Amino acid sequence: MGKQIRVRFAPSPTGALHIGGARTAYFNWLFARQQKGTFVLRIDDTDRARSTEASYQQILDSLRWLGIGWDEGPDVGGTFGPYRQSERIDVYRTYLEQLKATDHIYPCFCTAEQLQAEREEAQRKGRAPRYSGRCRHIPREEADRRIEAGEAHVYRLRVSEAGETTVRDLIRGDVVFQNSEIDDFIIWKADGTPTYHFASCVDDAAMEISHVIRAEEHLSNTPRHVALFQAFGVEVPLFAHVPMILAPDRSKLSKRHGATSVSEYREAGILPEALVNYLLLLGFSPGEDKEIVSRDEAVQLFQLDRVTKHAAIYDVKKLEWLNAHYFRSQSPDAVVAKLWPTWVESGYVRADEVDRSTIAWIRTVTEFVLSRSRNWTDVMDGVRPYFAKVNTYDAKGVQKQFSGQDVPHRLRLVADRLQTVAPFTTVVIERAFRELIEELQVKGGELIHPTRLALTGMTVGPGLFDVMALLGREASVQRLNAAADLIERGELVNLQK
Ligand code: GLU
Repeated sequence: MGKQIRVRFAPSPTGALHIGGARTAYFNWLFARQQKGTFVLRIDDTDRARSTEASYQQILDSLRWLGIGWDEGPDVGGTFGPYRQSERIDVYRTYLEQLKATDHIYPCFCTAEQLQAEREEAQRKGRAPRYSGRCRHIPREEADRRIEAGEAHVYRLRVSEAGETTVRDLIRGDVVFQNSEIDDFIIWKADGTPTYHFASCVDDAAMEISHVIRAEEHLSNTPRHVALFQAFGVEVPLFAHVPMILAPDRSKLSKRHGATSVSEYREAGILPEALVNYLLLLGFSPGEDKEIVSRDEAVQLFQLDRVTKHAAIYDVKKLEWLNAHYFRSQSPDAVVAKLWPTWVESGYVRADEVDRSTIAWIRTVTEFVLSRSRNWTDVMDGVRPYFAKVNTYDAKGVQKQFSGQDVPHRLRLVADRLQTVAPFTTVVIERAFRELIEELQVKGGELIHPTRLALTGMTVGPGLFDVMALLGREASVQRLNAAADLIERGELVNLQK
């Protein structure tokens, strides 16, 4: 049997879960599900000042909403817990002691001023700043004595200056770093807490993480991490650095490009199915121009080595398009159930409606409107003409469609004709309507547009004959005559919107 596949998503709870983090989580989840591995949620809250409980909760909520569940984590536990770094200080101390014992680290007493001077000198000489190694060779006894005396110190990892470090990355191939680029970096701070690099690697080692799938911005840290795993004497995990997500103008994605956090998308009415589908397309191509990919299908299709190396471009239009697709695919019954309380509040339906044919009609209207909607607003706007009486009329429409002398008369003719239509279905209504157009010798639009305005109060909308069929004979006739009356009595003035 091969090695157990164990991956982790390790967000820092310092804000909302953003689209980039969500994608990293999703890729980890997909890989784990496909490989029958384990997906761990770890909370990287070593930065106590910036970490908040609210952010922690929000991240978990967002992941749950997206349907990205974890096998081990802070709330569900697991054999490798605890899963919040703030609760793991003992584990970090154990690894610290191990590295002291194996002489992989040394205490460094350099002051902030000394380090600053080194940095400035490097800058003057045009070199990359790098720790000089001043404390590297302090004899053990002297170091112990200074620590004993209470001198402030950090711990640094001894990194060999010669040679190179290879990061095995499943997306990028082998990435080689010269060791001369890596200095003896700090793993333990003067305040007695681990640095981010150290805590992260200890956790990956202790939690037996086999694949580290994370954002590209961490690639430059990775040779340091490899050095740490080697110092621990554990197998170095494989890496997969997923590409950055850029705005359409290739700048860094930020607030000004619109919603970027999962909760904002959620509030904007984006469905979780649409968002995870979109996340997949950010860096992964399902092939054959395929774009609609459900979670289950993605589990089958996903391949780390087919994730692109180049940046993914954020495309809100694509997300909206996917959302429209998933939106329309919802079951009409579920939509009715969801919107029922709102419709009761708006007076569209009766809270205690039991009439079967009315309920069936509500469902039919919903199904019809849903098939033409991209989001909840579309559904709400779309059902209004059916569920609510028309009490306002589009002002421009009134000017254009209701101004002709003959309009009231024509509307009444349409109403009369509808009385004769049987059965009252789209096809038969259309036939009768076209006959009337012929008889009156008018252009189609001259009859269609005023009729639509009279029936819905709007100038645009779905096919007129569908609208009439859905409204039913009684309501259609009533609305046409009511509009004719209002026009004749000149009472439309206050009803224009
Ligand atoms: N806490 C880090 C972050 O949020 C995780 C880095 C990693 O996955 O190793 O970026």
